[in-house]
Amino acid sequence: MIGAIIGDTVGSRFEFDNIHTKEFEFLTPECEPTDDSIMTIAVADAIIEWDKTGRENYEVLSDYTVKAMRSWGLAYPNAGYGGHFFWWLRDESMGPYNSCGNGAAMRISPVGWAARDLEECKQMSFAVTAVTHNHPDGIMGAEATAVQIFLARQGYSKEELKQYEEENYYTLHLDMPWYREHYQWESLCNGTCQPAFQCLYDSKDFEDSIRNCISIGGDCDTTAAICGAVSQAVYGIPKELESQIRSYLDEDQLAIVDSFNERFILPCGRC
Ligand SMILES: [Mg+2]
Repeated sequence: MIGAIIGDTVGSRFEFDNIHTKEFEFLTPECEPTDDSIMTIAVADAIIEWDKTGRENYEVLSDYTVKAMRSWGLAYPNAGYGGHFFWWLRDESMGPYNSCGNGAAMRISPVGWAARDLEECKQMSFAVTAVTHNHPDGIMGAEATAVQIFLARQGYSKEELKQYEEENYYTLHLDMPWYREHYQWESLCNGTCQPAFQCLYDSKDFEDSIRNCISIGGDCDTTAAICGAVSQAVYGIPKELESQIRSYLDEDQLAIVDSFNERFILPCGRC
């Protein structure tokens, strides 16, 4: 999950000021965690609580997710939420609203780390996602992201992940040069996940995958959050980068990150 937070934070200063290059300072004082990070932390918080119950009931996971997302969202109300989602955060009477936005995938990474098998990964992904993004494309984007994290933990290579995605979720035939020339702003799940995954498949290490995301422009904090989430599971996170990102997080956020890592992620960062 820290991979998603790094991607989001690096991308934050380019979301509305796209650059089409991989040459830039990675983390600067202008960077900040946005909605992608806050909601990732909320999902991690919900999963920790659900795990304590013995994981018996996916409806309980959904309930915890709703509670955590509203609580974290209202604690950080200026993180850059989409209009509809912000409405949902404040109106407790509001249920799922058929969203197919990329918010479904940007927040899902804790599922891929906490799941114990592939079926549980898919069920957890659905339980977390359907509380707001219950459109089939939202459900698919979240699952496509979470499943890759789970499979990377089992040792799948980038090539095997891509093959799995193509067989089960998306057509992934566009390469980096195409995206750099043609990619436009996209807030829907399908159009964000496809380039986010390609940025990973065409990368040589964790940082390079995030640089790929920034270089294609668009909603790049979210593209980088989705890519970074899977990239962590493939490459691990460089120690220096992990300690650097901690300085961007508040104490209450770090408490969830640490608690989640202790519970579900071994010290190597990708097991
Ligand atoms: Mg954002």
